[in-house]
Order: sequence, then C-alpha cells, then structure tokens
Amino acid sequence: MSFNIAIDGPAGAGKSTIARKAAGRLSFLYVDTGAMYRAIALGLLERKTNLQDAEDLKKALAEISVTIRYDGQGQQQVFLNGENVSSQIRDEEVGKMASASSAIPQVREKLTDLQRGLARKENVLMDGRDIGTVILPEAQLKIYLTASVGVRAARRYQELKEKGIPCSLQEIEKDIRDRDERDKNRSVAPLRQAEDAVRIDSSEMTVEEVTERIVALARERMGENRA
Ligand code: C5P
Repeated sequence: MSFNIAIDGPAGAGKSTIARKAAGRLSFLYVDTGAMYRAIALGLLERKTNLQDAEDLKKALAEISVTIRYDGQGQQQVFLNGENVSSQIRDEEVGKMASASSAIPQVREKLTDLQRGLARKENVLMDGRDIGTVILPEAQLKIYLTASVGVRAARRYQELKEKGIPCSLQEIEKDIRDRDERDKNRSVAPLRQAEDAVRIDSSEMTVEEVTERIVALARERMGENRA
C-alpha cells in the first residue's frame, strides 16, 4: 500500500517549497494540486469563459483536459490539452482565476480522480487546500501548514522584489487576505484543518526547520506502519 502525506494550508505559507524539499528527502512523488487548478484556470481564461454562465462553463470544462507528467528530475509538469503550461500558470492573473474557479464544484470534480489515482499508485506528498479533508482523508500523515498574514505577505514581497517585479506590500497583504477569505468560506471543499492534522506555524521557522519536522514525522509514521 502506498504511503500518503497531505499538506494543506493558506496561500503563501511556504507549502510548495517545503513540500518539494520534503518529498525529495523522502523519495516521494510531489503532487502540486494548485498547479492543476491553475491549468484549468488558464483554459478558462483562454476561452474567455464567463463563470456565471452555466452553459458557457460546462462547454469550456468539456473542452479542457489537464494531465501531469514527471520529468527526468522528478519535477511535476502540467499539461493543458497536451501543451506544457508549467510556466504560464504562474502568472498573477492565472492565480486569481484559479482562486475564483476552484470554488466551482464541477471544476473540483474534474481533478478529484486524477489526484486520488496518483496517491493510490505511489508514495505521494500532495499539497493543496482540501487534501487531508476531502481528497485523501485516509492519508497516513496530514500537515496543516500556516503562517501569519504579515509574514506571508512579507515573504511574497521579497520573492517578487528578487524577481524584479514591482509590487506593494500593502496590496500583497490585501490579496492574501482576500484569497484566505475565499478559500476558507467557499461552500465546497473549504480550506480547514483536518481533525487529525499536525498544525505547523512557520511564521518563526526556517524552510529547513519545517522540512525537517515533516520528514521526521513521516519517518516516525512509516516506522509505525511497518511494525
Ligand atoms: O496553491 P496555489 O496558489 O498554486 O493554488 C491556486 C489556487 O487554487 C488557490 O488560490 C486555491 O483557491 C486553489 N486550490 C484549491 N484546492 C487545492 C489547491 C489549490 O482550491 N487543492
């Protein structure tokens, strides 16, 4: 049986950086579910889909197909109708559309089988918003990774500045608050901590410390599972 680790938490808590590192250390497959929502969002943007128009949405979703593949370095690549869109989906505009469209049940349904299928076959470390609560409720280890809004905004600001992208700390903070609000208050698969998840607040921890804690927890649980 495969061993599954679920990591959920709000935007900007460091999930993907930490999940990638921890998965590498454990030789697990890292599954970034946010990338899948972003790929659907890109497909919806390309089609100029009106999310409020049920017919338009249904038609667009029928045309959109998302698949993933792993490259030689074990990095997840995401494909939209056969085209590798792994870089394009990082645009701010795509992130905003992903946040809005991921609240729609038909969008979530489209990805459920893909995510569960991967976890059945492989040892995965999967990150997202509803992995421990909806997608993999039987995961052997669940982590809820969070950090204060101020810290998450400051990290994002630093990241964008390093890339030379002009930005305002205030706007980033507002964007993070809005995203939290949408992710936590939507009616389908809202972001919340699973009852049996280990909560880690990374506000005052380094990436290395958080990674180490997750790897240690996983090794402990894997040992228990073998015994
Ligand atoms: O994590 P990332 O920012 O790439 O995710 C993009 C958007 O997809 C998030 O704002 C969130 O609303 C949505 N998402 C989700 N469920 C997941 C992963 C991401 O609703 N499992």
